[in-house]
Amino acid sequence: MTDLYRLLPEEMESLVIELGQPRYRADQILYSLYYKFPENISEIKQLPAAFRDTLRDKGYTIGSTKEVHRITSKDRETTKLLLKLQDETPIESVLMQYPSKKLFGHPRSTICVSTQVGCAMGCVFCATGQMGFERNMKAEEIVGQVIHFAKILAEKDQHITNIVFMGMGEPLANYQETILAIRLLTHPRGFGIGQRNITISTIGIISGIEQLAEENLQIGLAISLHAPNDKLRKWLVPTAGANSVMELIKAGQRYFLKTGRRVTFEYALIEGVNDSIEIAEELAFLLRNNGSHVNLIPINPTAGDFERPKRKNVIEFERILYNSGINCTVRVEKGTEISAACGQLRTDVLDKYNNKRN
Ligand code: SF4
Repeated sequence: MTDLYRLLPEEMESLVIELGQPRYRADQILYSLYYKFPENISEIKQLPAAFRDTLRDKGYTIGSTKEVHRITSKDRETTKLLLKLQDETPIESVLMQYPSKKLFGHPRSTICVSTQVGCAMGCVFCATGQMGFERNMKAEEIVGQVIHFAKILAEKDQHITNIVFMGMGEPLANYQETILAIRLLTHPRGFGIGQRNITISTIGIISGIEQLAEENLQIGLAISLHAPNDKLRKWLVPTAGANSVMELIKAGQRYFLKTGRRVTFEYALIEGVNDSIEIAEELAFLLRNNGSHVNLIPINPTAGDFERPKRKNVIEFERILYNSGINCTVRVEKGTEISAACGQLRTDVLDKYNNKRN
């Protein structure tokens, strides 16, 4: 079986020609996939019924995702979905909306997609990391998450403005499928979102960052640093290499030089672990004159023992970086009450399900 969402527009064209159809059939399929969001081939009404039969007979399909659980924050700005893939595997995706500053403007709608089921990186503060790794996701399964939300938003006359690869899994550990998903999503005849509206977040797979810099893409890169020294980083990210901090900073600089895109260092702030004044000063010393951007993320409480830092510590941490000339923001807290950190909803829902069965 081949999912039609897996085919790049050029491949769609080759397919229709191979099946004896005129070239414009490819555009009819693409238009339907990316603007009408059909759940199966029968719903692509522009195609003759005989051609739809041929596609099915040749093993083509549309592997849409099924929504099994939806949870929306009280302010209605964060919606988290538990989706089931074709093989019934549950995964998470999140929509975060930021109201427009214009009177009747559309909100900025960012989708956070997953690239793996579970994750092998084992970060100690992350619910997905605690699940372990199940499997890589296919490009069409990554695209399927975006399509699912695009359909929901289209019903409200809204659209997706940004996509971040920050959900379950490490995108650069599923490199080929992640890049194919980006090419499908950014192709002008595919989903058509701008490359600059996409950000990949990595825990720091150096070879993947190097490879990404060579792809001739204009996507943003966020590197999750979480600590200014190797000892603390190795404890928080057990799979980090022995010299990961300096290597990551250099990899970020090379990515910037190659692509011209500024790199963001993500820093999950954890109460009593990496939020002290001394650590802020160490980080400020490390990143001075680097030209990067630091995004501080006070963690959502997870199933583990980690706590969100006190507000005064966050402000002080930010001030120390700022006074060292480092461009720094604190991530707007969204969806705390709906388990918005990656892996939390899947864990919560599966726990409830298993408790019911026991
Ligand atoms: S934080 Fe990211 S890389 Fe680390 S375990 Fe969680 S999903 Fe994997």
